[in-house]
Amino acid sequence: MTVRVRFAPSPTGHLHIGGARTAIYNWAFARHHGGAFVLRIDDTDLERSTDENTAAILRSLRWLGLDWDEGPEAGGDFGPYYQTQRTGTYEPALERMKANGHAYPCFCTAETLETKREASRAEGGFSGYDRTCRNLDPSTVAARIAAGEPHVWRVAVPDDRGDIVIDDLVRGETRFPIDAMDDFILVRTDGSATYNFATVVDDWTMAMTHIIRGDDHLSNTPRQVVVYEALGAEVPTFAHMSMIFGADGKRLSKRHGATSVEAYAEEGFLPEAVLNYLALLGWSLDGETTLFDRETLVREFDLSRVSKSPAVWDPEKLEWMNGSYIREMSTDKFVDTMTPWLERAGFATAADVAARRDWFLSLAPLISERVKRFDEVADKVAFLFEEPTIEDSVRVKILEKDGAARALEAAAEVLATVEFHAEEIEAALRTVPEATGVKPKDAFQAIRVAATGTTVSPPLFESLELLGKERTLARMAAALELVTT
Ligand code: GLU
Repeated sequence: MTVRVRFAPSPTGHLHIGGARTAIYNWAFARHHGGAFVLRIDDTDLERSTDENTAAILRSLRWLGLDWDEGPEAGGDFGPYYQTQRTGTYEPALERMKANGHAYPCFCTAETLETKREASRAEGGFSGYDRTCRNLDPSTVAARIAAGEPHVWRVAVPDDRGDIVIDDLVRGETRFPIDAMDDFILVRTDGSATYNFATVVDDWTMAMTHIIRGDDHLSNTPRQVVVYEALGAEVPTFAHMSMIFGADGKRLSKRHGATSVEAYAEEGFLPEAVLNYLALLGWSLDGETTLFDRETLVREFDLSRVSKSPAVWDPEKLEWMNGSYIREMSTDKFVDTMTPWLERAGFATAADVAARRDWFLSLAPLISERVKRFDEVADKVAFLFEEPTIEDSVRVKILEKDGAARALEAAAEVLATVEFHAEEIEAALRTVPEATGVKPKDAFQAIRVAATGTTVSPPLFESLELLGKERTLARMAAALELVTT
């Protein structure tokens, strides 16, 4: 059997973290087994589905590096891959169910049903459909349909079926009592298929072998099993993953920070890190390893190591992981990844970076050690691209401190005579405290503030080298002017 799995997002919003994890697990499962990863867009909610959302979902999947074998833009033998284009398959499926007595029309109006439901609820009884139309005689049914009476189509849940039991690959044996299930609707009055019917027909006609999804769908599963059986179709294997919760024990939502994959891209997270982090959200490689690449995930992925308990979203761990990936990057890759962030800040264009690649390559290691996300880069390198403004409090505290001006003057003097490389700069500046009697810490802080505008900058000597002699000296002169006039 060739494994076939699908990710079936509804394009009613962008790809969020939970959806992305579902996609990753399906993708990794397919790749691990050499099967097919299918992308189907469940766009039947016409009011809330948009092309823009679909485009954003495809973008996010690609950003994460999840390639699909069949689906939008990829094509495939089991298309179409948009649910709204698959309606043609629902009618024959319904016919099949009618023919074997597993579907019947129901003429009960919404009002009648509501009245009955209320009465039944008041008595504490079964609130599902009471099967009024299940045993209408065939001639009555034919006549009412011929007369154009509005009706839905319901599934006839078998009386002798017994409880539904699935062997869930994550949750193990899971039992659903059959008497809790009513004859639910397959096709609405307007001819449209309900979610449980459409999904099963799609999954069946697309030859899905495994359905891997969030356990928010668990309540749909027994209904879907009933539909598979009514169709005479083989029931796929299910795997339901637990939901993702915030540290407060509530389901992950905007309240816990960014929830869309794109927002993480915008904040300067790396796709490798997000993929790694999400893969571990409910799955473990060996209970120890936290950092692994895509190939390892594919090689090791196994649904039996997906946890039944809820996964807890930990933004700090994600940041830590992102920082680890950043530090492991090659200098070249860091420069390439940093470039768009420099462009966005208006500091340098891709052409500037290409023209002075060596300079940017020297800058990279100073920054990569100090950021966990790329959106922190601009701030850290700003002093190299624009004249710093020294805050009043910093000026008072650092530059107006006793001896600071003296140290600056001495520093400017020695720097004027050296080759502008970090080691020479360091050797020259190390003479300043002794020559001036200013404490090393105070002297270096004054130089740092003069050159970079802040007390926290990348390492001083390397920073000055990158800034260059001319600009360093000009900034020192400007700082001196600030404190002596
Ligand atoms: N379109 C459904 C959703 O986004 C898919 C459900 C399923 O996986 O069966 O929730």
